Amino acid sequence: MEKRLCQLCGKEIPAARLQALPETNRCVDCARLKGSDIKRTRREIGMDPDTYQDLLNATRS
Ligand SMILES: [Zn+2]
Repeated sequence: MEKRLCQLCGKEIPAARLQALPETNRCVDCARLKGSDIKRTRREIGMDPDTYQDLLNATRS
C-alpha cells in the first residue's frame, strides 16, 4: 500500500487508517485534535470517521 504522510505533523499515517479512510491526509492524533479532513464519509457510515476507526481497531484486537 502507498505510504502517506500526515499533512499536519508529517508522520506516516498507519496503513489500517488508510484502509478505513483512503482519502484522509491526517493521522489519528491530528484528526482528533484538529478534526478529520474527511467530510463525505461521515454521512456514508453514519458516524465520525475516527470513531469508526476506533471501532475497527476494537473489533480486530
Ligand atoms: Zn498528524
